[in-house]
Amino acid sequence: MTDFSKNEIIDLLKDDSQNDWLFSLADKVRKENVGEEVHLRGLIEFSNICKCMCKYCGLRCENSYAERYRISPSSIISTAQKACNAGYKTIVLQSGEDKFFSQKIMSEIISEIKKFDTAVTLSIGERSFDDYKAFKDSGADRYLIRIETTDKDLYKKMHPNMSFENRVRCLKDLRTLGYEVGTGCLVGLPEQTIESLASDILFFKEINADMVGIGPFIAHPQTPLKNCKNGDFTLALKVMALTRIMLKNINIPATTAMETLNPDGRLIALQCGANVVMPNVTDLNYCEKYDIYPNKAHLDYDISHSRKVIEDKLKTIGRTIAKDYGFRK
Ligand code: SAM
Repeated sequence: MTDFSKNEIIDLLKDDSQNDWLFSLADKVRKENVGEEVHLRGLIEFSNICKCMCKYCGLRCENSYAERYRISPSSIISTAQKACNAGYKTIVLQSGEDKFFSQKIMSEIISEIKKFDTAVTLSIGERSFDDYKAFKDSGADRYLIRIETTDKDLYKKMHPNMSFENRVRCLKDLRTLGYEVGTGCLVGLPEQTIESLASDILFFKEINADMVGIGPFIAHPQTPLKNCKNGDFTLALKVMALTRIMLKNINIPATTAMETLNPDGRLIALQCGANVVMPNVTDLNYCEKYDIYPNKAHLDYDISHSRKVIEDKLKTIGRTIAKDYGFRK
């Protein structure tokens, strides 16, 4: 039995007595469908400038305390080259919604990075079909854009000046254009219900997501949600485990937000359904300024050394680093 109805998902999310069974089932489904290898994706957080006002996010344009930065295209490309030389087979380019990175500039960055024999994943928010097409034509392989929540009322409250419909339009456009499509949700937003988390999982299945990132919400002190309580690590883990069981062969990252709430968060997640880690390869000067939530977990080492540290950690749970690009199996 590896497919659940909405009611069964709700029951499992509400009842913690089944957690051990649920996590070991997710681990088994992960092993059978995507194997023991862990895909490492080198994450470059290249700009924290953002026009959005997402209520939970430290990069929101109204946060005047944020120290803003934008890495130059040539430095983004040279960071990607270093990561590829260190063995990364995917570069993830993530940023706030920063208009400086026009269709032309982004396309140039992508085509330069593609010369390093790597897959390229973008995570730069909502853009037009035309932009997505230009990025795909330049060689981008994958795109991450979390739906964040499928509860439309909550979506509206959390995202002033944005629309749920446009978020879904982005996901559809990306699929039409032949990207591997990644989405995901936050767990623990204020007023979020267990029922809506179950709908999130069913949404991932309905759109046949190739990648799903689940992150607990972490309250940022310079946002309107500063007094809200953080999301629950175990609940986020359960949403992730159920996503693995329901979608089987997709790629699922052990997210940084999980590691931020629990010092062993990523290793635990890798044993409850996850098969991807996205180490931050951004220059350490910028890493701390990409302050989406406080105490974001990161390693204080250079690109090659941090890869070795991760490899050693993976060995402790019997896992190895994959050598291929890590597309959906
Ligand atoms: N601008 C792009 C977008 O909207 O997809 C990518 C950057 S955005 C900062 C990346 C992700 O950070 C979001 O999808 C959101 O889920 C997550 N995030 C932002 N604030 C967070 C918080 N306070 N706690 C946990 N995750 C958060």
